[in-house]
Amino acid sequence: MRPGPDGQGTTYDAVVVGAGVIGSAAALALSRRGWRVLVVDRHGAAGHGSTSASAGIVRVHATSIDSVVLAEEGLAHWESWHDFLDAPADEPLASFRRCGTVVLADGTDYTAEVAAALTAVGSMYERWSHDTLAGHLPDFDLSRFGPPRLPEDEAFWDDPVGVLDGAVYTPASGFVADPALAAQNLLAAAVRAGCSFRPAAEVMGLAGAGTRITGLEFADGSRVSCPVVLNAAGPESARLNRLAGADRGMAVQTRAMRQELHHVPAPPGVDWYRDGVHVVDGDLGINFRPEVGNALLVGGNGAACDGETWVDPAGPWSPAATQAAWNRHVLRLARRMPGLRVPSRPSGVAGLYDVTPDWLPVYDRTDIPGFYVAIGTSGNQFKTAPLVGELMAELIETVEGGRDTDDKPLVVAGTRTGRDIELAAYSRRREPAPDGVRG
Ligand SMILES: Cc1cc2nc3c(=O)[nH]c(=O)nc-3n(C[C@H](O)[C@H](O)[C@H](O)COP(=O)(O)OP(=O)(O)OC[C@H]3O[C@@H](n4cnc5c(N)ncnc54)[C@H](O)[C@@H]3O)c2cc1C
Repeated sequence: MRPGPDGQGTTYDAVVVGAGVIGSAAALALSRRGWRVLVVDRHGAAGHGSTSASAGIVRVHATSIDSVVLAEEGLAHWESWHDFLDAPADEPLASFRRCGTVVLADGTDYTAEVAAALTAVGSMYERWSHDTLAGHLPDFDLSRFGPPRLPEDEAFWDDPVGVLDGAVYTPASGFVADPALAAQNLLAAAVRAGCSFRPAAEVMGLAGAGTRITGLEFADGSRVSCPVVLNAAGPESARLNRLAGADRGMAVQTRAMRQELHHVPAPPGVDWYRDGVHVVDGDLGINFRPEVGNALLVGGNGAACDGETWVDPAGPWSPAATQAAWNRHVLRLARRMPGLRVPSRPSGVAGLYDVTPDWLPVYDRTDIPGFYVAIGTSGNQFKTAPLVGELMAELIETVEGGRDTDDKPLVVAGTRTGRDIELAAYSRRREPAPDGVRG
């Protein structure tokens, strides 16, 4: 018998904690495989956690081959979103908008490493000279302003020294302007496949913690029974790991980092929504993409001078844009786009990254039988989420089927790249490289 919609007192094959883009994708994949799945979230709808603050950039470039493979395979789902979801004609769908990504050569080895990884995977890309770049981006000042500085630094307005060497351009990448809607689309597809959703339900305890998971307990005292729990709790995943007793077996721990994104009108006479690209500007320590309403959405790249804001995800933290971060991002953007008119008051949002030391996610089982994690998405896994759902379903079925993936890690064939997706790269037991590159 299929359980009731509120999940009260019922038994499921699996409960997914977190209706963000990752948990909703995993619920869809498990439900399509015939699992009786319950998704729970403390919010009233899917996608209202960190997913709602996401820039939704779906890029293919990275410096690691594993990350490029994952991104390319993930991109295929966004490109065929309607078919992938098998959505009814009248459902409002998040849409992927292809705009391409320009990674500016900033004088470091970054673009060379990106090009090497893209070449290894066979991803489409072009190397642009300075002149080609200037031809494509006539509204840009292509001077070398770096290294990135704070606007409070006297040297911020120093004259530039030289010009950018060029760029790497990936034509296939783009963005999803409404990331929360994408999570809602995934959850709606999961429900069509038989999944149940219990909103406004906060998980406060796990039955069988430390041994074999047997169920969950909610803040209102109600319980559900299930032999499998997937922790997809985003920036709050570390707390859930502790509740399950799973944190002790994890070499890779996660922490929540506050991150702001700002919304700036495009310069007069520029239709950036129609003509713009996603730009990764390591020279100024920012990246930006076209935003609806002929605007730009700009955020930071983690430049050393910007510092890091670690927060307790359960504690008070403000989702509002601050003047300091606004100045940092938007004044840098104004150096690159001299026509930009900078509004005096900040406009934007803040969200939380669930960060690992090497900026790679953890997609794995844990030492607690029945307890799985899709966590540590480190500000860069919106783009892969629909694929990650399928990888997690495959992993859970494999482990529950009796295979020890710690001894024999899962390898899934990539259909778009023809390369293997090695889940060992996302193991909880890996030694995280301390100097990991963001994304
Ligand atoms: C500012 C910002 C910009 C980003 N930009 C990009 C980008 O451009 N491209 C990209 O690929 N990625 C980007 N990311 C990263 C990407 O958005 C995240 O990796 C992704 O959204 C994480 O989804 P999630 O489902 O893991 O987490 P979430 O969306 O946070 O979902 C977790 C859910 O779990 C619920 N939950 C937690 N604890 C409990 C509990 N105890 N009981 C019940 N429910 C619980 C929460 O309510 C939440 O809804 C960005 C992230 C941020 C914050």
